[in-house]
Amino acid sequence: MASIGQTARAFLLTEIVKGMALTLRYFFKPKVTLNYPYEKGPISPRFRGEHVLRRYPNGEERCIACKLCEAICPALAITIEAEPRADGSRRTTRYDIDMTKCIYCGFCQEACPVDAIVEGPNFEFATETREELFYDKARLLANGDRWEREIAANLADVAPYR
Ligand code: SF4
Ligand code: SF4
Repeated sequence: MASIGQTARAFLLTEIVKGMALTLRYFFKPKVTLNYPYEKGPISPRFRGEHVLRRYPNGEERCIACKLCEAICPALAITIEAEPRADGSRRTTRYDIDMTKCIYCGFCQEACPVDAIVEGPNFEFATETREELFYDKARLLANGDRWEREIAANLADVAPYR
């Protein structure tokens, strides 16, 4: 009897009909996939992506060269050199991050007293060479200028929980 049933199913193509019915049902349901890179999913305001160095609205660098981020970095990825300016303020003369060492722990961001070094929302910074992942101060400041609006909004969002 079982073999007769199997033969009948094979001739009537019931498995294919069932499969096509399932396909048809999902064809009209909302899509769960995204057309990346043209569409992107939501990102948490706490997402730890590419690093930036931020400025104040008047253009002045936030970083005061306290070196707390350098001291706390478990991967020893940050290198800072600093000296006083003519006006007596202290600023970095060198701020490098070796992104090939970074483990994206966020400690540098948490240690910073002036929200200067921040891990921004950018996750699209893959490179073809290691050298491109050795970030210097100019690169980090440029990142900050590019992402300031999103980062300020994210920091405001999480401020009650810090
Ligand atoms: S995220 Fe962590 S590992 Fe990366 S630079 Fe900051 S402290 Fe270092
Ligand atoms: S980024 Fe922040 S923690 Fe690091 S040296 Fe500058 S002010 Fe200090």
